[in-house]
Amino acid sequence: MTNYIFKDNTRSNITIGKIICLARTYRKHAEEMHSNITENPLLFLKPSSSVIFNGESIIVPRMSKYLHHEVELGVVIGKKCKNVLQKDALEYVLGYLLALDITARDIQSEAKKNGWPWTIAKGFDTFAPISNLVYKKEIKDPNNLDISLKINKEIKQSSNTKYMIYSIERIIEFISEIMTLEKGDLILTGTPEGIGEISEGDILEASLGDLCSLKVDVKSQ
Ligand code: MG
Repeated sequence: MTNYIFKDNTRSNITIGKIICLARTYRKHAEEMHSNITENPLLFLKPSSSVIFNGESIIVPRMSKYLHHEVELGVVIGKKCKNVLQKDALEYVLGYLLALDITARDIQSEAKKNGWPWTIAKGFDTFAPISNLVYKKEIKDPNNLDISLKINKEIKQSSNTKYMIYSIERIIEFISEIMTLEKGDLILTGTPEGIGEISEGDILEASLGDLCSLKVDVKSQ
C-alpha cells in the first residue's frame, strides 16, 4: 500500500516515508503517564500503512480493546538531510499537519512491563490519521501553535506546542544524527496531556489553531 501526503493525490505525488514518533515531549503528559523526562527525545516508528485521512475511520483491532487518543503536531520533511544543525533545521521542512497517534494502551502497557518494543501497540492499520498539510510559509512559528482534540464535541486535549520540551529544530537535529531524513518522512512530535480512551462510535475532531482540522470516527472490525 502506498500512502501519499495528500489524500487527493492530484496535489502532489509525495509518498509518506517513515513515520518517526516522539514520546514524553510534554511535561504534563509525562506526569500523567508516570514517566520520566529524558535528556534526548525518545523515538519509535510507525509504519506508513497506519495512515488514514480526514473523514476516514479508526478501526479497533481484534487484539486490543483499549485504544487511546494522542493528538500531535506532525512535521513533514521536504528535502533529504543528514546531521542537520538546529539553525538550519526548518529549511528541510515542507510543512506541518495534525496527526493522531492512536495507541493500543493495553498492548503498550504489557510491552512496557516486559521491556518489549511498542511496534504492535502503535502500528495497526488506521492508527495514524493525518490532516491535510499546511505549507510552512503559512506558519509563523511552529513552536507556538495551539493544538486541541475534541471527542464527541467535548474538549479532551488542549495545549500549545510552546510547552514541548524539545523545539522542532532540536528534534530534527537529533533525529537526523541517527537516520537520514527524506522527502515525505513524517515526524509526530508527541502528545500533550489529556489522553484517554476512544471506542466504537466516537467522533474525534482535532484542530491546529485555525490552520487545519481533522475529523475521523471509530469503528470496530
Ligand atoms: Mg504519541
